[in-house]
Amino acid sequence: MTKFSFNGNRAKLKQLLGIRARLALLAIILVAPLMLERVRSLEDARAKQIAQTTAEFSTLARLSADSQREVMSSVETLLKSEAYIRATNGVRASCDVLHASLPTALPWIRTLLIAGGDGRIQCSTNSMYVGLNLSDRKYFQEAQQSGRFVLSDFLLARPSQTPTIMAAYPVSALNKDSDAVVLATVSLDWMSKIMNSLGGRPGISSVLIDGSGTVLAAPADQVGKIGRPLENLPLLSAISNLALHSDKDEGSLSFTAIEGSKLAVTFARIAGTGARLIVSIDENKVSAAANRDIRTAYLLLGLVCGLVLLGALFAAEKLVIQPIRKLATMTKRFGQGDWSARATQGGLPAEFVPLASALNVMAAQLQERDRELVATNEKLRVMASVDPLSGLANRRGFQSRFDFEWMKALQHGCSLSLLMIDVDHFKLYNDTYGHPEGDACLTRLGETLSGIAAKNMGFAARYGGEEFCLLLPKTDIVRAVEIGEDVRAAVLGLALPHSTSNHLIVTVSIGVASARPNDRLRPVDLIEAADAALYAAKNRGRNNVAEHGTMQAAGGTGEMAIAS
Ligand code: GH3
Ligand code: MG
Ligand code: MG
Repeated sequence: MTKFSFNGNRAKLKQLLGIRARLALLAIILVAPLMLERVRSLEDARAKQIAQTTAEFSTLARLSADSQREVMSSVETLLKSEAYIRATNGVRASCDVLHASLPTALPWIRTLLIAGGDGRIQCSTNSMYVGLNLSDRKYFQEAQQSGRFVLSDFLLARPSQTPTIMAAYPVSALNKDSDAVVLATVSLDWMSKIMNSLGGRPGISSVLIDGSGTVLAAPADQVGKIGRPLENLPLLSAISNLALHSDKDEGSLSFTAIEGSKLAVTFARIAGTGARLIVSIDENKVSAAANRDIRTAYLLLGLVCGLVLLGALFAAEKLVIQPIRKLATMTKRFGQGDWSARATQGGLPAEFVPLASALNVMAAQLQERDRELVATNEKLRVMASVDPLSGLANRRGFQSRFDFEWMKALQHGCSLSLLMIDVDHFKLYNDTYGHPEGDACLTRLGETLSGIAAKNMGFAARYGGEEFCLLLPKTDIVRAVEIGEDVRAAVLGLALPHSTSNHLIVTVSIGVASARPNDRLRPVDLIEAADAALYAAKNRGRNNVAEHGTMQAAGGTGEMAIAS
């Protein structure tokens, strides 16, 4: 059982690895590497594109951070000079100078303010702010306490409700006796404008965040993010954590966000402030076009492989399997004896034409051989039933013809007569003239009998030795006796000398019997009856024709001539 199933599996495997499968495999082996190479080069291009974009944006981010830093340092410089004026000239003079010192070259500075040590604004380029108390502001307190330039986090300016950041510089940094603070409101618009070179590309986010993680500035296409805490912006929240908690001034890292996007992040701290510029690149979006190309290439690979597979199967079927099947069918027909079977060469691939021609030549030769064999067999069959000496049928030939004529007579209810002819004193003939002369005599007698048989639609044969017989279908006893007389007379007519016979010429004795075959009569009965009649003819002195007298066969339907 195990062996059987093993053989079955082997047969299945063989079938699977047939010409079709092998061709298909070959085609795929040829095509797949080309397609895979294309996919690999696309993947390479995608990786390069991402690296290039990352590098490009890192540079842009650095430049943008530098610009932001310049903005901040320009604010710091201005505030320092204002603080110096305050420190050296007192409240009134410094307030006077303040109004004149708002520079148009630094458009990001909206308002300049001077606050007293109690936090109350003493003067401002925008009178709306005068009298406002800043003592509770963190940046104000920080500036007073640290004695350094301080930038606030994102805030909405109270009177105008516009998003802004405040820059503060304590006068105490220059003159210990003064506790005033010089301040400026810095336009976030300008900071965003600086970042415009970082916008306009899908998959790339860039923001400037303050120390608390609120967006201070963003390129024109992302202005919606300004004022929003980074935590609320998907993707960027993770980035803000990384950027804010990193103690480095700048850095880059890549990670996979929760929703699966692969991000490359670059951040740079704006020197001297808690602000950081963050650029994140979503690799999937940046390489969307390349991804599309790769997907298309994979699809194409599948399609081409499928087409090649189909093509290979079709080609194998058309060019190999079908021709082989055609030739096999022809050979099978030929093997089953259909000698006319030939391979049609039309429609066969050129490589199979020589094979088809060779098969056809072989088939034609075999057909010819078969014809020759049939002819030879026929000759042998005839030779096996012909007596060469007399030219008549031999005993075997007579027997088969006799059986045939008996059946015919039985079927048609006709008479069948038989003449048994024996040469008289032939032993003496041989003794007198020699055996060869005896043979010649038998030949002459054969020719004579053959002529008479033909004339009477009969069949002559050499029954054995010097004994002949003549079968006469559809002939009754009367006609048979007449024909017997004709034979006897014809032999006499030959006048073959036989000096040791009473008649001095060769004579024959003839026994005649006739029957109407039926189920109760056997063919041998007719032969025996003719033999008996011949015996009677010999007894009558030879050169005689004796008929077998008519006898009723048992049952009364048949009749037979019985020797008289
Ligand atoms: P009967 O009149 O009683 O028939 O006498 P017969 O001599 O013819 O009969 P018998 O049976 O005694 O002899 C037959 C002879 O026929 C003997 C044999 O040598 C001869 N014979 C048989 N076949 C051949 C043959 O093929 N060639 C020759 N030359 N002689 C043959
Ligand atoms: Mg005899
Ligand atoms: Mg004889």
